[in-house]
Amino acid sequence: MEQWMEQQTEMYKSMGISAEVISYGEKILEGLKNRFEAIDRVAEYNQLKVLKAMQEAKVSEACLLGTTGYGYNDLGRDTLEEVYAGIFRTEDALVRPQITCGTHALALALMSNLRPGDELLSPVGKPYDTLEEVIGIRPSRGSLAEYGITYRQVDLLPDGGFDYENIRRAVNGRTKLVTIQRSKGYQTRPTLSVAAIGRLIAFLKELKPDLICMVDNCYGEFVETTEPSEAGADMVVGSLIKNPGGGLAPTGGYIAGKKACVENAACRLTSPGLAKEVGASLGMTASFYHGLFLAPTVTASALKGAVFAANIYERLGFAVIPNGSEERHDIIQAVTFGTPEGVTAFCRGIQAAAPVDSFVTPEPWDMPGYDSKVIMAAGAFVSGSSIELSADGPIKPPYAVYFQGGLTWPHAKFGILKSLQALLDENAARLP
Ligand SMILES: *Cc1c(COP(=O)(O)O)cnc(C)c1O
Repeated sequence: MEQWMEQQTEMYKSMGISAEVISYGEKILEGLKNRFEAIDRVAEYNQLKVLKAMQEAKVSEACLLGTTGYGYNDLGRDTLEEVYAGIFRTEDALVRPQITCGTHALALALMSNLRPGDELLSPVGKPYDTLEEVIGIRPSRGSLAEYGITYRQVDLLPDGGFDYENIRRAVNGRTKLVTIQRSKGYQTRPTLSVAAIGRLIAFLKELKPDLICMVDNCYGEFVETTEPSEAGADMVVGSLIKNPGGGLAPTGGYIAGKKACVENAACRLTSPGLAKEVGASLGMTASFYHGLFLAPTVTASALKGAVFAANIYERLGFAVIPNGSEERHDIIQAVTFGTPEGVTAFCRGIQAAAPVDSFVTPEPWDMPGYDSKVIMAAGAFVSGSSIELSADGPIKPPYAVYFQGGLTWPHAKFGILKSLQALLDENAARLP
């Protein structure tokens, strides 16, 4: 043990971590044994869930090949969709490289299941930034609003609970689809547990049984042992460059749910009449399977990183959401540093820990769609992948960073230690 610690310490030191930071990190870790054990148990269950779905769908070597052209009779694609339906316990699924990102998957699910004159309701407050243009909250070309689909929103109560009374008032004859965002994304509201989503859906369906309940499942997959589709959701939607791609999917998105909902989405993605029958998988199917197989343990690694970071920074006096001891329902961790130096030092530390582009220094820049400069740290194998260790922070009060990902726990740990080292070197934090 002694000798191992010595060797490990030397390795960390050779990569720029001081003895004080190493021992502070170890002290924090000692208090997290039970948390980590619980995370491992969820991963164990979910690993079996994924494996079982693959076995039951009879995934074969032939499934790992791709098709070109129209992609008729693509065994790998069709079987993968069966595997997703098995994991999410839904009637059907659409899992495609032609779905370019999470926003696209969500837009597709909405645009294909709503018709002119229908109304969309969000009973959990403002949706993710990029959906504002999809819905037309911010006027945009091609938005739902342009097609005569209206939108209504009920905010969460100050304590994060559902505002049942105003939800009841908001549901009307035109309300067709309800969108429920599981993860807090980059807001400060709490992330919703699968159980809480289930309660909300039960309430909504009692008001109006034929409502389509869609859950934006981004960042939530495999964090719990059940998914929102098992709690009444008619559709769950997400991105393959987040949790379910396991870091190996190079692109793609999924919609899993009721047969009619998925069929609508397929008709919109390809064409009426063609639906799921076309769509070449090119060479990507193998990495979709491979990544999905790793996704439960990759998600667990990211979760451990988030819990570790929360505890590291909470004990240094910074505000963290979720806090160090809270139960987790997604992989995002927010830390408020209160100074621009804190934000930039944190992101530079994360960047310096990356396997790719570790030598570059991230700078705050004017990103399209944001009202302040934003600094981003990402040294990922898949560009923009946020299941890989990554962080970003708007340079404006309260000077918070949002941090997520980590394909392996040792890498997440190293990244967090590196961020702390950068903060100490810049005098933006002090060890207790
Ligand atoms: C990431 C995310 C999206 C959008 O996904 P992109 O792949 O960035 O387009 C939507 N909703 C939530 C909650 C997300 O985390």
